[in-house]
Amino acid sequence: MIDVLIIGGGIAGMEAACTLHDLGFETLILEKEKQLGGHLRNWDTLFPTKRKASEVLEHYVKEIQQRGITVYLNTDVTSVKKQEDGTFELNTGREVQFKTKTVLMTTGYALFNAERKEEYGYKIYDNVITSADLEKILQTAKGELRSPSGNSIQSVAFVHCVGSRDEKSGNHYCSNVCCVTGVKQAIKMRQLLPEAQVFNFYMDLRMYGSGFEEMYREAQEQWHVQFIRGRLSEVAETIDKRLQLKAEDTLSARPLRMHVDLLVLLVGMESNKAAADFAQSCNLACAPSRFVQPKDFHIESNKTNVEGLFTAGTAIAPLSVFDTVNHAKAAALSVSEYLKKNN
Ligand SMILES: Cc1cc2nc3c(=O)[nH]c(=O)nc-3n(C[C@H](O)[C@H](O)[C@H](O)COP(=O)(O)OP(=O)(O)OC[C@H]3O[C@@H](n4cnc5c(N)ncnc54)[C@H](O)[C@@H]3O)c2cc1C
Ligand code: SF4
Repeated sequence: MIDVLIIGGGIAGMEAACTLHDLGFETLILEKEKQLGGHLRNWDTLFPTKRKASEVLEHYVKEIQQRGITVYLNTDVTSVKKQEDGTFELNTGREVQFKTKTVLMTTGYALFNAERKEEYGYKIYDNVITSADLEKILQTAKGELRSPSGNSIQSVAFVHCVGSRDEKSGNHYCSNVCCVTGVKQAIKMRQLLPEAQVFNFYMDLRMYGSGFEEMYREAQEQWHVQFIRGRLSEVAETIDKRLQLKAEDTLSARPLRMHVDLLVLLVGMESNKAAADFAQSCNLACAPSRFVQPKDFHIESNKTNVEGLFTAGTAIAPLSVFDTVNHAKAAALSVSEYLKKNN
């Protein structure tokens, strides 16, 4: 029987698979998409270093291949069932069953669907996009960057906290990485469009990680990005496809109106559907945020309430790549201790 079955071949799954393999355990990855990599496949550059996301992915895919770790692609795990002898049976959408001693759940997160915030006009107005859409555009950008409607871009606005810290969306938590993603993308827009003005509308700026505050300073001092504390109340399209924004500058308590050529919604992270599926199939505990609830947030954040079922990365909360990789390494050690004790 396989020692560890890893569900999800994103950055967390790949890191854990390599570490577990090096510790001497038979490890297998099940990934529902046709490629490894998770969300990183869709990102252009990564904060805080601005290196290409593809570089990080290539590193991991090479490490997986060099170790000969088996990967099943196009394999969507639909349920995890604990057996009486303490082992697990996994069912997949392809109706293939897997048996394993332990499970490591690295199913990541889902992006908040910005259509739920109708007032911002996503999928209604051509020139309203999300931060995830912008990463895709940047990945393939060649020549002058234009708005989706084909206009030249003289002004861009970013809206923070879309679908996070928001009663109406049912997401009270902060998505952690969208502030710094907004800073990263604002700098990029100023680099690509030196004549354009860039505005970031925020509630408060959360630059918690190493190198984040420095990027925020760089955005202001070097790239003259304008940070406005205020929430957008209304977006309307003008006849020439520009966007009219209404907001309140909450620092000066003044109403604000402006026109921009592109509006970017910094969408938050939500728990993946897999968390709900597995919760149903094996009584996995989830937090009120709907992310997986670790057994002990401080001391055993890789363990779940189901013995032998471990978790890592953004399956438990919104995290950066840095935090995800470290959490996945820790998960591998946790699984290894369990296997040594129970073998
Ligand atoms: C717009 C945006 C930009 C970002 N930019 C940066 C950045 O510049 N720097 C940075 O550090 N972080 C950035 N992040 C955060 C980064 O995306 C995460 O840290 C990282 O993706 C977490 O990796 P993960 O493996 O936990 O999850 P994921 O990337 O979500 O991977 C999970 C994997 O599990 C698979 N899976 C899910 N369910 C199943 C199932 N049932 N069966 C089989 N497989 C399954 C998925 O297909 C996926 O491949 C950004 C986030 C956003 C939203
Ligand atoms: S990281 Fe920033 S943009 Fe994202 S939810 Fe938290 S405060 Fe809002």
